[in-house]
Amino acid sequence: MSAPETPLIIVGGDVITMNSSREVLVGGAVAIEAGRIAEVGSSSEILERWPHAKQISASGCVVTPGLINTHQHFTGDPLLKSCIPDQISSQEAIFNWAVPAHQAHTSADEELSAALCAAESALRGVTTVAEAGTVAHPHSVAQGISQIGIRAVLGIWGSDTPDLPLAGPVTEVVAQQCQLLRDFPQGGRIEGWVCLVGHDLASDELLCAASELAQDEGVGMTMHISPTPADSEIWLDRTGLLPLVHFEKLGILGRHLVLGHAVWLDSQEVEILLATETAVAFCPWAYLRLAQGTTQAGRHHEIWRQGGRVALGADAHNAGDNADMLRVAAVCAGLWRDQSMSPDSFGAHHAFELLTLGGADALGKEDQLGSIEVGKMADLVVFDARDVSWNPRGDLALQLIWGGVGHSVRDVFVGGQQIVRDFELTQLDLAELLAEAAARQKVLLERTGAQLAPPWPLIQAS
Ligand SMILES: [Zn+2]
Repeated sequence: MSAPETPLIIVGGDVITMNSSREVLVGGAVAIEAGRIAEVGSSSEILERWPHAKQISASGCVVTPGLINTHQHFTGDPLLKSCIPDQISSQEAIFNWAVPAHQAHTSADEELSAALCAAESALRGVTTVAEAGTVAHPHSVAQGISQIGIRAVLGIWGSDTPDLPLAGPVTEVVAQQCQLLRDFPQGGRIEGWVCLVGHDLASDELLCAASELAQDEGVGMTMHISPTPADSEIWLDRTGLLPLVHFEKLGILGRHLVLGHAVWLDSQEVEILLATETAVAFCPWAYLRLAQGTTQAGRHHEIWRQGGRVALGADAHNAGDNADMLRVAAVCAGLWRDQSMSPDSFGAHHAFELLTLGGADALGKEDQLGSIEVGKMADLVVFDARDVSWNPRGDLALQLIWGGVGHSVRDVFVGGQQIVRDFELTQLDLAELLAEAAARQKVLLERTGAQLAPPWPLIQAS
């Protein structure tokens, strides 16, 4: 997908730049050329300087950088959205539902699932998503994401645990990951990453080989660790060390790595995380929905306060059940404020930083994404602030985070290309996509043998 040739100006909105001074340009404008932000300033000056540009009015709107989701499962859950019951443990949810669902996906299911997830992301202002490392058919997933037009960093299911579905021997797993990096080179809208499922589902040999590959190739890497105490127990049993202590010994931590979760860490692990500048994707809805104990054990606020690299993720459609990142940021801010009982320790303004600048930093794209500044990629969201949720107008960050305004995304641009216009996808018919998803959900449930068992009886009453 190439950037539009004609320059574009978005005029008359309140532009939340997220530049180093956090300036908000009231009634400002953004000029876009060749997919990048060419100028940010007053509407009158930009209108004068860009007389031949295509104009989009953002009058009555709030313009922000595109939101960044650093941990999202594109497959496995989106087609089984909100099917996994609340009344089972997270281990049961993963091994009795999520893993069989991944195993049952055909490549066509993965494409559809990814398109659905990307559509929901785009319609909520999310322009960049990092896949969490559980894809079996990356080309199909890339095809699904491309149908919507968001950016993604994408990996393939990486595990060498015997008997785990989709796993293989180390050499095979590494060869697959290498191939993926070749197929999705850096600089494209979809970039390859090194991904491992994580937890305890990798040998030391695979952990080292994967980290070495990511560092040699200059790409990012992600894996799950410690959403519950289970990973600590298993690694202690296996090595005598807590997972991050063991990982440090192996030399796999560092700026190239985004750990999904890292909820159950002890003080030594927190120190290691900070010292190695390893990033964390914090997915609070998952921990709350799955009863994993972030309110008891989570130390993300402390990590952030000490300068740690924390970003936000939505995780899975049965662990938060929604890719609305403003909702994720709100629950993060609420949890951290409540935990600290200190109102000035973290607020809506900080939460929006995590969604933009923090996400860009975690993905190693701080010079490309995360703010509306000249030279960065033109990934922008236009919120229709005439919506009742925005009125009367108060502090913009408070309204973005606390106000529940995710539904007011009017337009979305990725690299200057408009992928949402007037609340609708520009490249795909959403109604058709949803109908196809509903049909495939039935097939997948049959194939996995999973039974929906809602506590409220469903009475056919048509
Ligand atoms: Zn995950």
